[in-house]
Amino acid sequence: MVVKVDRLDYQQHLGSVGREPRWAVAYKFPAAQATTKLLDIRVNIGRTGTINPYAVLEPVEVGGVTVRQATLHNEAYILSKDLRIGDFVVIERAGEVIPQIVRSNELLRDGSESRFVMPSECPSCGGQTSRNINEAALYCTNASCPAQLVRLVEHFVSKSSMDIDGMGGKLGVALINNDLIFDVADIYTLRSEHLLDMDRMAERSTSNLLDAIENSKKRPLSRLLTALGIRHVGTEVADSLADRFGDIGNLIAASEEELLAIPAIGPKIVQSVSEYFSSDSNRKVLDKLKQAGVNTKNGGIEPSSKPIQQILTGLRFVVTGRLENFSRSDIQDLIKQLGGSVSSSVSSRTNYLVAGDDAGSKLSDAARLGIVILTEDDFNAMVDQRPFYDDDA
Ligand SMILES: [Zn+2]
Repeated sequence: MVVKVDRLDYQQHLGSVGREPRWAVAYKFPAAQATTKLLDIRVNIGRTGTINPYAVLEPVEVGGVTVRQATLHNEAYILSKDLRIGDFVVIERAGEVIPQIVRSNELLRDGSESRFVMPSECPSCGGQTSRNINEAALYCTNASCPAQLVRLVEHFVSKSSMDIDGMGGKLGVALINNDLIFDVADIYTLRSEHLLDMDRMAERSTSNLLDAIENSKKRPLSRLLTALGIRHVGTEVADSLADRFGDIGNLIAASEEELLAIPAIGPKIVQSVSEYFSSDSNRKVLDKLKQAGVNTKNGGIEPSSKPIQQILTGLRFVVTGRLENFSRSDIQDLIKQLGGSVSSSVSSRTNYLVAGDDAGSKLSDAARLGIVILTEDDFNAMVDQRPFYDDDA
Protein backbone atom coordinates (compact mmCIF):
# COMPACT_ATOMS: atom_id res chain seq x y z
CA MET A 1 0.00 0.00 0.00
CA VAL A 2 1.29 3.46 -0.90
CA VAL A 3 0.19 6.58 1.01
CA LYS A 4 0.25 9.75 -1.12
CA VAL A 5 -0.21 13.47 -0.46
CA ASP A 6 -3.35 14.35 -2.38
CA ARG A 7 -2.54 17.97 -3.36
CA LEU A 8 -0.39 19.00 -6.28
CA ASP A 9 1.01 22.17 -4.66
CA TYR A 10 2.08 20.20 -1.57
CA GLN A 11 3.64 17.56 -3.82
CA GLN A 12 5.67 20.21 -5.63
CA HIS A 13 6.66 21.78 -2.34
CA LEU A 14 7.80 18.45 -0.91
CA GLY A 15 9.76 17.51 -4.05
CA SER A 16 11.77 14.34 -4.25
CA VAL A 17 15.03 12.75 -3.17
CA GLY A 18 16.63 11.18 -6.26
CA ARG A 19 13.84 9.26 -7.94
CA GLU A 20 11.83 8.79 -4.72
CA PRO A 21 9.13 11.42 -4.23
CA ARG A 22 8.77 12.72 -0.67
CA TRP A 23 5.00 12.89 -1.07
CA ALA A 24 4.47 9.14 -1.55
CA VAL A 25 5.43 6.58 1.07
CA ALA A 26 4.99 2.80 0.93
CA TYR A 27 3.29 1.77 4.12
CA LYS A 28 4.44 -1.55 5.51
CA PHE A 29 2.02 -3.19 7.90
CA PRO A 30 3.79 -4.14 11.09
CA ALA A 31 4.47 -7.88 11.25
CA ALA A 32 2.19 -9.77 13.63
CA GLN A 33 4.02 -11.08 16.69
CA ALA A 34 3.20 -13.41 19.60
CA THR A 35 5.06 -15.09 22.43
CA THR A 36 4.94 -18.84 22.91
CA LYS A 37 6.99 -21.74 24.25
CA LEU A 38 9.66 -23.52 22.20
CA LEU A 39 8.70 -27.11 23.01
CA ASP A 40 11.33 -28.91 20.95
CA ILE A 41 13.83 -28.58 18.12
CA ARG A 42 13.64 -31.33 15.51
CA VAL A 43 15.25 -31.89 12.13
CA ASN A 44 14.09 -32.92 8.68
CA ILE A 45 16.17 -34.11 5.73
CA GLY A 46 16.32 -32.13 2.47
CA ARG A 47 16.60 -33.48 -1.08
CA THR A 48 20.38 -33.20 -1.20
CA GLY A 49 20.70 -34.64 2.30
CA THR A 50 20.81 -31.38 4.23
CA ILE A 51 19.66 -31.72 7.82
CA ASN A 52 17.42 -28.76 8.63
CA PRO A 53 16.38 -27.92 12.18
CA TYR A 54 12.91 -26.54 12.88
CA ALA A 55 11.08 -25.39 16.00
CA VAL A 56 8.08 -27.17 17.48
CA LEU A 57 6.02 -24.53 19.28
CA GLU A 58 3.15 -24.47 21.70
CA PRO A 59 0.35 -23.55 19.23
CA VAL A 60 -0.22 -19.80 19.19
CA GLU A 61 -2.33 -17.39 17.13
CA VAL A 62 -0.28 -14.96 15.08
CA GLY A 63 -2.08 -12.65 12.67
CA GLY A 64 -5.16 -14.89 12.60
CA VAL A 65 -3.29 -18.13 11.93
CA THR A 66 -2.32 -20.84 14.39
CA VAL A 67 1.43 -21.36 14.30
CA ARG A 68 2.88 -24.68 15.46
CA GLN A 69 6.30 -24.69 13.82
CA ALA A 70 8.94 -22.26 12.63
CA THR A 71 12.03 -22.62 10.50
CA LEU A 72 15.44 -22.50 12.20
CA HIS A 73 17.62 -22.68 9.04
CA ASN A 74 20.77 -24.26 10.53
CA GLU A 75 22.80 -24.69 13.67
CA ALA A 76 24.52 -21.30 13.36
CA TYR A 77 21.14 -19.59 13.35
CA ILE A 78 20.08 -21.33 16.57
CA LEU A 79 23.37 -20.41 18.24
CA SER A 80 23.24 -16.79 17.08
CA LYS A 81 19.84 -16.36 18.71
CA ASP A 82 20.82 -18.55 21.70
CA LEU A 83 17.56 -20.50 21.43
CA ARG A 84 17.08 -23.20 24.02
CA ILE A 85 14.43 -25.91 24.24
CA GLY A 86 11.90 -24.74 26.84
CA ASP A 87 12.48 -21.04 26.12
CA PHE A 88 9.68 -18.54 25.66
CA VAL A 89 10.16 -17.07 22.20
CA VAL A 90 8.72 -14.21 20.15
CA ILE A 91 7.23 -15.44 16.86
CA GLU A 92 6.64 -13.22 13.87
CA ARG A 93 4.71 -13.67 10.63
CA ALA A 94 5.24 -11.09 7.91
CA GLY A 95 2.88 -11.51 4.95
CA GLU A 96 1.28 -14.88 4.40
CA VAL A 97 4.45 -16.82 4.90
CA ILE A 98 6.65 -18.95 7.09
CA PRO A 99 6.79 -17.87 10.71
CA GLN A 100 10.16 -16.90 12.18
CA ILE A 101 11.50 -16.80 15.71
CA VAL A 102 12.62 -13.26 16.48
CA ARG A 103 14.28 -13.88 19.84
CA SER A 104 14.00 -15.81 23.08
CA ASN A 105 13.10 -14.21 26.39
CA GLU A 106 16.00 -14.92 28.75
CA LEU A 107 14.17 -13.36 31.71
CA LEU A 108 11.59 -16.16 31.63
CA ARG A 109 14.16 -18.97 31.93
CA ASP A 110 13.91 -21.16 35.05
CA GLY A 111 16.94 -23.37 34.48
CA SER A 112 15.04 -26.28 32.95
CA GLU A 113 15.88 -25.17 29.38
CA SER A 114 18.30 -27.25 27.34
CA ARG A 115 20.61 -26.51 24.45
CA PHE A 116 20.06 -28.23 21.10
CA VAL A 117 22.78 -30.36 19.56
CA MET A 118 22.73 -31.30 15.86
CA PRO A 119 22.57 -35.09 15.42
CA SER A 120 25.79 -36.93 14.53
CA GLU A 121 23.68 -39.56 12.75
CA CYS A 122 20.89 -39.04 10.21
CA PRO A 123 17.61 -39.39 12.14
CA SER A 124 16.08 -41.15 9.15
CA CYS A 125 18.66 -43.76 8.13
CA GLY A 126 21.33 -43.65 10.83
CA GLY A 127 23.96 -42.61 8.25
CA GLN A 128 26.90 -40.39 9.22
CA THR A 129 26.40 -36.65 9.06
CA SER A 130 29.09 -34.25 7.90
CA ARG A 131 29.61 -30.63 7.02
CA ASN A 132 31.26 -29.16 3.91
CA ILE A 133 33.85 -26.46 4.39
CA ASN A 134 32.30 -22.97 4.20
CA GLU A 135 28.74 -24.27 4.36
CA ALA A 136 26.40 -23.87 7.28
CA ALA A 137 24.40 -26.98 6.46
CA LEU A 138 24.97 -30.43 7.89
CA TYR A 139 24.44 -33.37 5.49
CA CYS A 140 23.44 -37.02 5.64
CA THR A 141 26.14 -38.77 3.57
CA ASN A 142 24.11 -41.90 2.77
CA ALA A 143 23.08 -41.73 -0.92
CA SER A 144 20.23 -44.20 -0.42
CA CYS A 145 18.75 -42.41 2.60
CA PRO A 146 14.94 -42.85 2.44
CA ALA A 147 14.27 -39.33 3.76
CA GLN A 148 16.32 -37.90 0.90
CA LEU A 149 14.37 -40.07 -1.53
CA VAL A 150 11.11 -38.56 -0.28
CA ARG A 151 12.40 -35.06 -1.11
CA LEU A 152 13.89 -36.19 -4.40
CA VAL A 153 10.57 -37.72 -5.50
CA GLU A 154 8.80 -34.47 -4.54
CA HIS A 155 11.31 -32.56 -6.64
CA PHE A 156 11.16 -34.99 -9.59
CA VAL A 157 7.36 -34.69 -9.88
CA SER A 158 7.21 -30.92 -9.22
CA LYS A 159 5.91 -28.40 -11.74
CA SER A 160 9.37 -27.17 -12.79
CA SER A 161 10.60 -30.75 -13.28
CA MET A 162 8.54 -33.63 -14.78
CA ASP A 163 5.24 -32.11 -13.61
CA ILE A 164 3.41 -35.23 -12.47
CA ASP A 165 0.25 -33.89 -10.88
CA GLY A 166 -1.06 -35.86 -7.89
CA MET A 167 2.17 -37.69 -7.08
CA GLY A 168 3.77 -35.48 -4.41
CA GLY A 169 3.48 -35.29 -0.65
CA LYS A 170 1.90 -38.08 1.35
CA LEU A 171 1.39 -40.42 -1.60
CA GLY A 172 5.10 -40.33 -2.41
CA VAL A 173 5.95 -41.10 1.22
CA ALA A 174 3.42 -43.95 1.31
CA LEU A 175 4.80 -45.51 -1.88
CA ILE A 176 8.34 -45.33 -0.49
CA ASN A 177 7.29 -46.78 2.86
CA ASN A 178 5.48 -49.62 1.07
CA ASP A 179 8.65 -50.53 -0.88
CA LEU A 180 7.11 -49.59 -4.22
CA ILE A 181 9.64 -46.83 -4.95
CA PHE A 182 13.38 -47.17 -4.33
CA ASP A 183 14.44 -44.52 -6.84
CA VAL A 184 12.69 -42.00 -9.09
CA ALA A 185 12.62 -44.41 -12.05
CA ASP A 186 10.31 -46.69 -10.05
CA ILE A 187 7.56 -44.08 -10.50
CA TYR A 188 7.24 -45.46 -14.04
CA THR A 189 6.70 -49.01 -12.81
CA LEU A 190 3.59 -48.15 -10.77
CA ARG A 191 0.41 -49.99 -11.75
CA SER A 192 -3.17 -49.25 -10.79
CA GLU A 193 -3.25 -52.15 -8.30
CA HIS A 194 -0.32 -50.58 -6.39
CA LEU A 195 -1.99 -47.18 -6.28
CA LEU A 196 -5.46 -48.45 -5.36
CA ASP A 197 -3.93 -50.03 -2.24
CA MET A 198 -2.90 -46.59 -0.98
CA ASP A 199 -5.00 -44.38 1.29
CA ARG A 200 -7.47 -42.06 -0.43
CA MET A 201 -6.70 -43.41 -3.90
CA ALA A 202 -9.91 -44.14 -5.79
CA GLU A 203 -10.35 -45.42 -9.37
CA ARG A 204 -10.54 -41.93 -10.78
CA SER A 205 -7.54 -40.40 -9.01
CA THR A 206 -5.54 -43.52 -9.85
CA SER A 207 -6.27 -43.30 -13.54
CA ASN A 208 -5.56 -39.54 -13.59
CA LEU A 209 -2.22 -40.15 -11.91
CA LEU A 210 -1.27 -42.95 -14.30
CA ASP A 211 -2.11 -40.61 -17.21
CA ALA A 212 0.06 -37.87 -15.68
CA ILE A 213 2.95 -40.33 -15.25
CA GLU A 214 2.56 -41.50 -18.86
CA ASN A 215 2.47 -37.91 -20.19
CA SER A 216 5.58 -36.96 -18.23
CA LYS A 217 7.62 -39.44 -20.32
CA LYS A 218 7.51 -36.97 -23.20
CA ARG A 219 9.11 -34.04 -21.35
CA PRO A 220 12.15 -32.51 -23.06
CA LEU A 221 15.69 -33.34 -21.89
CA SER A 222 16.02 -30.04 -20.00
CA ARG A 223 13.10 -31.03 -17.74
CA LEU A 224 14.60 -34.44 -17.06
CA LEU A 225 17.98 -32.88 -16.18
CA THR A 226 16.26 -30.53 -13.75
CA ALA A 227 14.24 -33.40 -12.27
CA LEU A 228 17.25 -35.61 -11.50
CA GLY A 229 18.20 -33.28 -8.66
CA ILE A 230 21.89 -32.97 -9.57
CA ARG A 231 23.44 -30.47 -7.15
CA HIS A 232 23.81 -26.98 -8.65
CA VAL A 233 21.76 -27.94 -11.74
CA GLY A 234 18.62 -25.80 -11.72
CA THR A 235 16.39 -24.99 -14.68
CA GLU A 236 18.81 -22.55 -16.33
CA VAL A 237 21.85 -24.84 -16.18
CA ALA A 238 19.66 -27.75 -17.35
CA ASP A 239 18.57 -25.66 -20.34
CA SER A 240 22.19 -24.86 -21.26
CA LEU A 241 23.23 -28.50 -20.99
CA ALA A 242 20.27 -29.68 -23.07
CA ASP A 243 20.93 -27.00 -25.71
CA ARG A 244 24.58 -27.94 -26.01
CA PHE A 245 24.32 -31.76 -25.97
CA GLY A 246 20.80 -32.53 -27.18
CA ASP A 247 20.82 -36.08 -25.85
CA ILE A 248 21.64 -37.44 -22.41
CA GLY A 249 24.12 -39.91 -23.93
CA ASN A 250 26.18 -37.05 -25.37
CA LEU A 251 26.12 -35.28 -22.02
CA ILE A 252 27.32 -38.39 -20.16
CA ALA A 253 30.14 -38.80 -22.69
CA ALA A 254 31.17 -35.13 -22.48
CA SER A 255 34.62 -34.28 -21.11
CA GLU A 256 35.11 -31.72 -18.34
CA GLU A 257 36.66 -29.37 -20.92
CA GLU A 258 33.56 -29.57 -23.11
CA LEU A 259 31.36 -28.82 -20.10
CA LEU A 260 33.52 -25.90 -18.98
CA ALA A 261 33.31 -24.40 -22.47
CA ILE A 262 29.60 -23.66 -21.90
CA PRO A 263 29.28 -20.01 -20.78
CA ALA A 264 26.81 -20.54 -17.91
CA ILE A 265 28.82 -23.39 -16.41
CA GLY A 266 31.65 -23.12 -13.91
CA PRO A 267 33.90 -25.66 -12.18
CA LYS A 268 31.49 -26.29 -9.29
CA ILE A 269 28.73 -27.38 -11.69
CA VAL A 270 31.15 -29.43 -13.81
CA GLN A 271 32.31 -31.33 -10.74
CA SER A 272 28.79 -32.00 -9.58
CA VAL A 273 27.62 -33.14 -13.06
CA SER A 274 30.67 -35.41 -13.50
CA GLU A 275 30.18 -36.92 -10.04
CA TYR A 276 26.52 -37.52 -10.73
CA PHE A 277 27.06 -39.39 -14.00
CA SER A 278 30.04 -41.39 -12.74
CA SER A 279 27.96 -42.96 -9.96
CA ASP A 280 26.84 -46.51 -10.77
CA SER A 281 23.57 -46.11 -8.94
CA ASN A 282 22.72 -42.94 -10.85
CA ARG A 283 23.58 -44.61 -14.17
CA LYS A 284 21.27 -47.47 -13.20
CA VAL A 285 18.44 -45.00 -12.55
CA LEU A 286 19.04 -43.41 -15.98
CA ASP A 287 18.95 -46.82 -17.67
CA LYS A 288 15.69 -47.63 -15.91
CA LEU A 289 14.18 -44.31 -16.99
CA LYS A 290 15.16 -45.02 -20.62
CA GLN A 291 13.79 -48.56 -20.40
CA ALA A 292 10.52 -47.15 -19.12
CA GLY A 293 10.29 -44.99 -22.25
CA VAL A 294 11.21 -41.62 -20.71
CA ASN A 295 12.46 -39.19 -23.37
CA THR A 296 16.15 -38.30 -22.99
CA LYS A 297 16.49 -35.93 -25.98
CA ASN A 298 15.58 -32.38 -26.86
CA GLY A 299 12.06 -31.81 -28.15
CA GLY A 300 9.10 -33.41 -26.45
CA ILE A 301 6.13 -31.87 -24.77
CA GLU A 302 6.30 -29.12 -22.16
CA PRO A 303 3.51 -29.35 -19.58
CA SER A 304 0.49 -27.17 -20.21
CA SER A 305 0.90 -24.09 -18.09
CA LYS A 306 -1.49 -23.54 -15.24
CA PRO A 307 -2.49 -20.15 -13.84
CA ILE A 308 0.15 -18.87 -11.47
CA GLN A 309 -1.03 -17.61 -8.10
CA GLN A 310 0.53 -14.26 -7.30
CA ILE A 311 1.42 -15.21 -3.76
CA LEU A 312 4.21 -12.65 -3.36
CA THR A 313 2.14 -9.57 -4.25
CA GLY A 314 3.36 -6.48 -2.42
CA LEU A 315 6.49 -8.15 -1.02
CA ARG A 316 9.95 -6.71 -1.68
CA PHE A 317 12.91 -9.05 -2.01
CA VAL A 318 16.65 -8.66 -2.16
CA VAL A 319 18.77 -11.61 -3.31
CA THR A 320 22.41 -12.08 -2.34
CA GLY A 321 25.10 -14.76 -2.47
CA ARG A 322 25.34 -17.85 -4.65
CA LEU A 323 22.22 -19.99 -4.91
CA GLU A 324 22.26 -23.67 -5.66
CA ASN A 325 19.30 -24.05 -8.00
CA PHE A 326 18.68 -20.59 -9.38
CA SER A 327 20.71 -18.14 -11.37
CA ARG A 328 20.19 -14.55 -10.26
CA SER A 329 17.92 -13.83 -13.23
CA ASP A 330 15.91 -17.06 -12.68
CA ILE A 331 15.00 -16.17 -9.13
CA GLN A 332 14.25 -12.55 -10.00
CA ASP A 333 11.93 -13.66 -12.81
CA LEU A 334 10.17 -16.08 -10.50
CA ILE A 335 9.64 -13.46 -7.78
CA LYS A 336 8.21 -11.04 -10.33
CA GLN A 337 6.01 -13.73 -11.89
CA LEU A 338 4.54 -14.38 -8.46
CA GLY A 339 3.78 -10.68 -7.97
CA GLY A 340 6.74 -9.65 -5.80
CA SER A 341 9.43 -7.07 -6.54
CA VAL A 342 13.21 -7.28 -6.38
CA SER A 343 15.56 -4.48 -5.32
CA SER A 344 19.32 -4.40 -5.47
CA SER A 345 19.94 -3.10 -1.96
CA VAL A 346 18.52 -3.77 1.49
CA SER A 347 16.45 -1.01 3.08
CA SER A 348 13.86 -0.76 5.82
CA ARG A 349 11.24 -1.39 3.15
CA THR A 350 12.68 -4.80 2.24
CA ASN A 351 10.51 -7.71 3.39
CA TYR A 352 12.89 -10.60 2.67
CA LEU A 353 16.53 -11.20 1.96
CA VAL A 354 17.18 -14.48 0.13
CA ALA A 355 20.75 -15.36 1.08
CA GLY A 356 22.90 -18.01 -0.63
CA ASP A 357 26.53 -19.00 -0.10
CA ASP A 358 29.10 -16.26 0.45
CA ALA A 359 26.50 -13.60 1.18
CA GLY A 360 28.27 -10.35 2.01
CA SER A 361 27.29 -6.99 3.44
CA LYS A 362 23.63 -7.29 2.44
CA LEU A 363 23.28 -10.07 4.97
CA SER A 364 24.61 -7.93 7.81
CA ASP A 365 22.50 -4.97 6.62
CA ALA A 366 19.40 -7.16 6.73
CA ALA A 367 20.26 -8.55 10.16
CA ARG A 368 20.79 -5.01 11.48
CA LEU A 369 17.41 -3.88 10.12
CA GLY A 370 15.64 -6.97 11.45
CA ILE A 371 14.63 -8.14 7.97
CA VAL A 372 13.58 -11.74 7.55
CA ILE A 373 16.43 -13.77 6.04
CA LEU A 374 15.52 -16.78 3.91
CA THR A 375 17.76 -19.61 2.80
CA GLU A 376 17.16 -21.00 -0.68
CA ASP A 377 15.22 -23.88 0.91
CA ASP A 378 13.04 -21.42 2.83
CA PHE A 379 12.34 -19.54 -0.37
CA ASN A 380 11.44 -22.75 -2.20
CA ALA A 381 9.12 -23.73 0.61
CA MET A 382 7.51 -20.29 0.47
CA VAL A 383 6.80 -20.34 -3.27
CA ASP A 384 5.84 -24.01 -3.33
CA GLN A 385 3.19 -23.25 -0.72
CA ARG A 386 3.88 -26.62 0.76
CA PRO A 387 4.81 -27.10 4.41
CA PHE A 388 8.58 -27.21 4.95
CA TYR A 389 8.34 -29.65 7.81
CA ASP A 390 7.30 -33.26 8.18
CA ASP A 391 3.62 -34.00 8.56
CA ASP A 392 4.10 -36.18 11.61
CA ALA A 393 5.81 -33.45 13.62
ZN1 LIG B 1 19.92 -40.29 5.99
